[in-house]
Amino acid sequence: MRAQPTASHYIGGRYVESEAGEPFPSIYPATGEAIATLRSADDAIIAAAIASAVEGQKIWAAKAPSERASVLRRAARMLRERNHELSVLETLDTGKPLQETLVADAASGAECLDYFGALASSLTGEYIDLGGSFAYTRREPLGVCAGIGAWNYPIQIAAWKAAPALACGNAMVFKPSEITPLSALKLAEILTEAGLPDGVFNVIQGFGDVGAKLVTHPSIAKVSLTGSVPTGTKVAALAGAHLKKTTMELGGKSPLIIFDDADLESAVSAAINANFYSSGQICSNGTRVFVQSGIRDRFLDRLAERTANARLGDPLDEATNIGPLVSLSQYDKVLHYISLGKGEGARLICGGQAAKVPDFQDGLFVEPTVFADVTDDMRIAREEIFGPVMCVLSFESEDDVIPRANDTTFGLAAGVFTRDIQRAHRVIGKLQAGTCWINTYNLTPVEMPFGGNKQSGIGRENGHAAIEHYSQIKSVYVEMGSVEAAF
Ligand code: NAD
Repeated sequence: MRAQPTASHYIGGRYVESEAGEPFPSIYPATGEAIATLRSADDAIIAAAIASAVEGQKIWAAKAPSERASVLRRAARMLRERNHELSVLETLDTGKPLQETLVADAASGAECLDYFGALASSLTGEYIDLGGSFAYTRREPLGVCAGIGAWNYPIQIAAWKAAPALACGNAMVFKPSEITPLSALKLAEILTEAGLPDGVFNVIQGFGDVGAKLVTHPSIAKVSLTGSVPTGTKVAALAGAHLKKTTMELGGKSPLIIFDDADLESAVSAAINANFYSSGQICSNGTRVFVQSGIRDRFLDRLAERTANARLGDPLDEATNIGPLVSLSQYDKVLHYISLGKGEGARLICGGQAAKVPDFQDGLFVEPTVFADVTDDMRIAREEIFGPVMCVLSFESEDDVIPRANDTTFGLAAGVFTRDIQRAHRVIGKLQAGTCWINTYNLTPVEMPFGGNKQSGIGRENGHAAIEHYSQIKSVYVEMGSVEAAF
């Protein structure tokens, strides 16, 4: 397949292999087959990638913004042209069905490159009148940024970090998750073909130890991590010890609140999208579905009916809705939470076990699972499961549900379904979450800033807001008169 990367790392505009690193496989979770073997970056590879980025950044930052813009937009076009092969690669690496990867992965990366390509040539500073003298600000790059990715949206995460970083004139060394190492390499290759100078976007492989070495390296100015809260805590502490800037896109346990007056079918669709897309492996998922008592039984009936129609199966078949979980440890974790839910007394509405899929005996499939009668104190309602497990909780009133929805250390996302326009905005105003939806769920257009409050994150990706996190302001005072001194 043309889309297979040809080596483990991508440094200085070309693929690089080093026999010194520990080998590890990339596994297709539908079959358990290794689709590639990569090598973890050793110290020499890490040093080479950072040195290359330091050199590349100088060249890139000196380019006219319009030139940077056209490289990013050319890369967006190439991602779209190669969408099918990139989607197949992403499906093999993650197990996500092709039905999803064709529209949500490289395609989302392309939108992001286009958007920040457009912004690149419109970044400006400010003119500040000081009455005779004046000041101005310059928006300058930070330098070399480290990007560290999670495994659920590998090429999307790489692009969401690369596009704003590069638009602002930075270089990046990106480390994908060790579970899904392949597609970031393809992004690097495409950026080079689109005209990006060598060294501006580099990819190195490895586990957490490689990530930590990037974070502490003196030439890294900023760290952008997508991952779990425990990893975020470690990375933020390491970065803080060196006073490095950070963006943290972390986990969640987000509330989706459905009032009695909601459009029932849309609310059920949103709950499905908020829990079963990508087999539930999405950070912003609305996994605590609060349903007002008047609509609850009808909601659960329709949810069970519609979930029964979900097609689990061959991820490469475009008719398949739900693929396997990404890895054995994630599969074990999700099944453990399902048995915890049963033990905690939640009422199983559908699913509730590993799924048997013909021809995929070794596939890591789990049935889409809905628990009702979930209470706020249950572990399935408090902890991030990151799998196809929906918890439905009942509520009586707006006053009752808001504190319950906010009673979590997470604060990534939230959704509200109601036809009452005033209530929709009032409730959203009181929810402690960084990314919210009214009468829909999980739509993340690149124009809209994305990120979490509380322990779910620091900073924002996408939208104009991301520019703030990949650039710094230099203020310049310009004296138009003469300078006086006391002596
Ligand atoms: P993870 O935290 O296990 O790993 C994330 C990345 O961090 C990996 O590349 C890993 O190698 C690296 N890493 C691990 N330890 C490190 C260390 N000490 N120093 C530096 N790097 C280290 O997360 P995961 O299992 O890959 O992804 C799932 C998690 O990511 C979930 O919690 C999910 O909610 C979260 N997530 C958040 C967002 C978001 O935008 N908010 C998006 C996707 C996933």
